[in-house]
Amino acid sequence: MSGKAKSPIIVIIVGIPGVGKTTVLKRLQERAVREGLDIKVVNFGDYMFEEAKKLGLISHRDEIRKLPIHVQLDLQEKAAKKIREDAEKEKHDIFIVDTHALVHTATGFWPGLPKHVIENIRPYLIVNIEASPEEIYARRMRDAGVRFRMDEKNVEEIREFMFLARISSIASAVLTGSTVKFVQNKEGRVEEAVKEILSALKKI
Ligand code: ATP
Ligand code: AMP
Ligand code: MG
Repeated sequence: MSGKAKSPIIVIIVGIPGVGKTTVLKRLQERAVREGLDIKVVNFGDYMFEEAKKLGLISHRDEIRKLPIHVQLDLQEKAAKKIREDAEKEKHDIFIVDTHALVHTATGFWPGLPKHVIENIRPYLIVNIEASPEEIYARRMRDAGVRFRMDEKNVEEIREFMFLARISSIASAVLTGSTVKFVQNKEGRVEEAVKEILSALKKI
C-alpha cells in the first residue's frame, strides 16, 4: 500500500449472523493501531438504522429486516451512499464495512450487496468470514439471551444459508471486479483470522 490513496480503500466484511464479524473486526482494529495502520470500521446496519430512525420507522436495529422490502431497499441505498461519502471525507488508510452478503427477511433471502450498494461503495476486497455450521450454531446458542435472530433453526439450515451467502458474495464481486477472500474464524482462534485479514489488507 502506498500511503494515503486519493480514492478511499474500502473493504467489505461479510459473514452470516453469529460467525464473529464484529468480534474479529474489533480485534483487527486494536492490532492495526499497534502496527500504525489507520483503519476505520463501520457497521452497515448502523447506517441503515440511522436512516430508519430519521423516518421514525423502528426503535431497534434488528427490526430493520422485518420492514417491507421496498423500505429496506431505500434504507440500503441511502446507507451505501453515506458510507462512500464518509470514506471519502475521512481519509483513513482503510475503511472497513461490517455487513452481510445475504439477509434473511420475512419474504425470503435478500442480497446485502446488490448492484446499487456495491456500485456506490466500490470495495477493493470482500472478506467472507466463515466457521463451521456447528460452531456458528453454538455461538448463537451462547448469545441467545441478547440475540433476536435465530432464523436458521438448526445446523443444516445454517450450512445452507452459508452456502447461499458464499455465492452471494461472489456474485457481488462480479459486479465491481473486487476480489473475495474466505477467512476461517475458528473456535477460540480469533487472532488467526485477524492476522490473515491484516496480511491481505497490507497487500492491497
Ligand atoms: P451479527 O451478524 O449478528 O452482527 P457477528 O458476525 O458480528 O454477528 P459476533 O457478534 O462478533 O458475530 O460474534 C457472535 C458470538 O460469537 C459472540 O458471542 C462472540 O464472542 C463469539 N465469537 C466470535 N468469534 C469467536 C471465536 N473465534 N471463537 C469463539 N467464539 C467466538
Ligand atoms: P448486523 O448487526 O451486522 O447484523 O446488522 C444489523 C441489521 O442491519 C441486519 O440484521 C440487517 O437487517 C441490516 N443490514 C446490515 N447490512 C445490510 C445490507 N448490506 N443490506 C441490507 N441490510 C443490511
Ligand atoms: Mg456484528
